[in-house]
Amino acid sequence: MEHDVVVVGAGPAGCMTARRLAELGVDVLLIEKRPEIGVPLRCGEATSVRGIRELGIELNKKFIANETRGVYIYSPNGTKVEMLSETPNGYVLERRIFDKFLGIYAAKAGAEVRVQTQAVGLLKSNGSVGGIKLRHLGEEYEVECRCVVGADGIESKVGRWAGLDVQTSEMVSNAQFEIAGAFLENQKVLEFHFGSRIAPRGYAWVFPKGNDVANVGLGVRDSSASALEYLKRFVSSRKNLQGNVIGIVAGAVPVQGPVEKSVENGVLLVGDAARQVDPLTGGGIYNAMRCGTIAAEVLREAAQKNDFSEKTLLEYDRRWRAAIGKVLLTSLKIKGILEKMSDEYLDAVARAMQAYKFKNIDIKDVGTIISRLPPD
Ligand SMILES: Cc1cc2nc3c(=O)[nH]c(=O)nc-3n(C[C@H](O)[C@H](O)[C@H](O)COP(=O)(O)OP(=O)(O)OC[C@H]3O[C@@H](n4cnc5c(N)ncnc54)[C@H](O)[C@@H]3O)c2cc1C
Repeated sequence: MEHDVVVVGAGPAGCMTARRLAELGVDVLLIEKRPEIGVPLRCGEATSVRGIRELGIELNKKFIANETRGVYIYSPNGTKVEMLSETPNGYVLERRIFDKFLGIYAAKAGAEVRVQTQAVGLLKSNGSVGGIKLRHLGEEYEVECRCVVGADGIESKVGRWAGLDVQTSEMVSNAQFEIAGAFLENQKVLEFHFGSRIAPRGYAWVFPKGNDVANVGLGVRDSSASALEYLKRFVSSRKNLQGNVIGIVAGAVPVQGPVEKSVENGVLLVGDAARQVDPLTGGGIYNAMRCGTIAAEVLREAAQKNDFSEKTLLEYDRRWRAAIGKVLLTSLKIKGILEKMSDEYLDAVARAMQAYKFKNIDIKDVGTIISRLPPD
């Protein structure tokens, strides 16, 4: 068997890369180790309307649980800052269905998709990649290819096999309940809660999915108790969240910023595998898909030149950093500032911010405001 490119992992990064490759006429195989794309869920499911539009993803009601119109940010003592928009600027997705649709779009575009197929090793020849070893239902076989895309998430093996430095030293541990019977003040607004007693070095979120269902989760770092413990405390302290837990999610997000190098001879990393997730918000859906489209364009050029060397693929590294690198670095900086702020200072900042009427503000602008605050 032979393909130009094999994409490992059918999350947002892999599906988008495979779809665009197929649309550009490149022969691509997309593999996913799990039996079903999109399952199990490991996500808060919030993303921006702008991002989905920009990437030209065909909307389908089946994967949009809710449209949101802004955020409430709560400081440790509960002071609320409202940032609302007149028009919807966010989606809470049904990611199990969203990811599956991304897989369907890739297949429709012409990618070959195989589930329950795990990458177990790279086949190398003359210092480059000549193929990949796959396992399906206990049986191992080899596929020849000229390039492997590691879209295999935070636990990326492809990067390690290629000798890239993908060691993650800073992670946020997350836990999330999907709660049926979450009676929120506003079903169209995302809530973010800060405070060392709520979520040390992280934050808690409440993302409404409509029909009184919400994703309620939090992320913590270097904490004395687990994320799940903090989440149980957060939920039990709030009368409006005493519904039934219909789903539990646990997972980690890398927050040290992107990998130093995302390509090798015949190998390219995209999405969480390249740590393209935002280190401040933990949002990675959009970045994964955006970088997937960039990867596909560079891979098409490589296929045309019949040259998948590191030198050629470095163009991908350069282009994705030009697209999202600045935002990731700003987020890293703001994360550092926020982590040093005491609860009292955060309360004072929230009180000062209450004086402003934030209308149609982008969540990114909040970062700019925080980065300009005087030190605690
Ligand atoms: C609790 C939590 C909440 C989050 N909330 C949000 C949010 O609200 N908004 C947001 O934008 N981001 C959020 N994120 C981050 C977001 O989920 C990720 O950034 C995003 O899923 C990255 O996409 P990806 O395609 O790179 O990786 P993934 O979605 O992790 O996909 C990787 C895929 O590769 C497959 N795979 C792995 N190894 C192999 C192998 N050897 N062979 C074959 N297949 C393999 C996996 O099974 C998986 O399907 C959250 C993360 C967590 C943990």
